[in-house]
Amino acid sequence: MNDALARPAAQQPPWRDREAVRRVRAVLADEEPVVHVEEVEHLRTRLAAVATGAAFLLQGGDCAETFTGSTERNVAGTVGLLSRMAAVLAADGRPPVVTVGRLAGQYAKPRSEPVDALGLPTYRGDIVNALEATAEARAPDPGRMYRAYVSSRAAMAVVRTLVTSGSVGSDGPAVADDGFFVSHEALLLDYESALLRTDGRDPDEAALYDLSSHFLWIGERTRQPEGAHVAFAGLLANPIGVKLGPTTTPERALEYVERLDPDQEAGRLTLISRMGSERVRDVLPPIVEKVTACGHTVVWQCDPMHGNTVRSGDFKTRRFDDIVDEVHGFFEVHRALGTHPGGLHLELTHGDVTECLGGAQRISGTDLHHRYETACDPRLNQAQSLELAHLVARLLPARPLAQPGPGAGA
Ligand code: PEP
Ligand code: MN
Repeated sequence: MNDALARPAAQQPPWRDREAVRRVRAVLADEEPVVHVEEVEHLRTRLAAVATGAAFLLQGGDCAETFTGSTERNVAGTVGLLSRMAAVLAADGRPPVVTVGRLAGQYAKPRSEPVDALGLPTYRGDIVNALEATAEARAPDPGRMYRAYVSSRAAMAVVRTLVTSGSVGSDGPAVADDGFFVSHEALLLDYESALLRTDGRDPDEAALYDLSSHFLWIGERTRQPEGAHVAFAGLLANPIGVKLGPTTTPERALEYVERLDPDQEAGRLTLISRMGSERVRDVLPPIVEKVTACGHTVVWQCDPMHGNTVRSGDFKTRRFDDIVDEVHGFFEVHRALGTHPGGLHLELTHGDVTECLGGAQRISGTDLHHRYETACDPRLNQAQSLELAHLVARLLPARPLAQPGPGAGA
């Protein structure tokens, strides 16, 4: 573990008080974890089904959760929206959907610039500093790692209650029978490594889990093959994702699968392409061909959000049509190669926000200021999310009608 963490780690906060970091980590190391080993193992088996084409993965939630926004209402709202979308996707005999929230821990954000337009240190997510634009609020505060843990536990408690009751509110959708899993970007290594736990086995054979979440992914800005994030993920028994932006070469993709899926285990690794609608049809095919030819059965997942971010006035936004186009491109690529378009990775919220342009509500540039509430990237609102689910459902195969068995019939 220490070897992994000794490697260069991108995007870590410039903590001033290392002793405070050490103290918080020591406290976290003694706490109950956020998720359980059995749940992580259950997700592993479900992702193996996704990788082999027997199921579809729906993952989504806020770009950045916030402490004040991690309310029971919001957590239930995200679980409810994803459950509704899953029901749309799986209707009419289409493949079952594995549902994973970007929640109960999505508090760390990678940033392109270390300072913002005002010259202040950038907001790195509530786990590090505060969004408020003052020097004091933006100073990294190690105590926030503990708050992130408490908020994650609270959010997970809400998820567990919903899963146990089987539905999201009295008139809300059913939570999928398969349960509901959680995920976040494994960005802040001081936090993630403090939540490492082993299973109950003999110490020599024990598997190592990051029990901050069921599923963890490595972002576009921290996927250096020799860096700490890839090495850290390589130690884990959790299923792992890697974001692949448009500069990814097939050789680079192969390096990730060799490091992170050395045993060629179906569904161990999820490759999350986020190429942009204009690039996906060119950049993705040779990557899929190379990884597949080398014997790895990964989950291919499409993030149609992060390659399609544009500016409209003062706002960062995304066009619904670009998002749909990237999803179509992703399905076209997999159809042409005979591989499984395994899932979607979305930024969305149950609220009626105005953060992405278009959709049936025809949100325009002049509407964005009405309810632009995100702490980081623009999210699909409830209507846009459901519209997307209906469009994607049409791309998924309906279960073939049962054939009469041999010898049966007239
Ligand atoms: C994200 O998922 O919020 C994110 C920052 O994505 P990426 O690493 O793909 O840019
Ligand atoms: Mn984002």
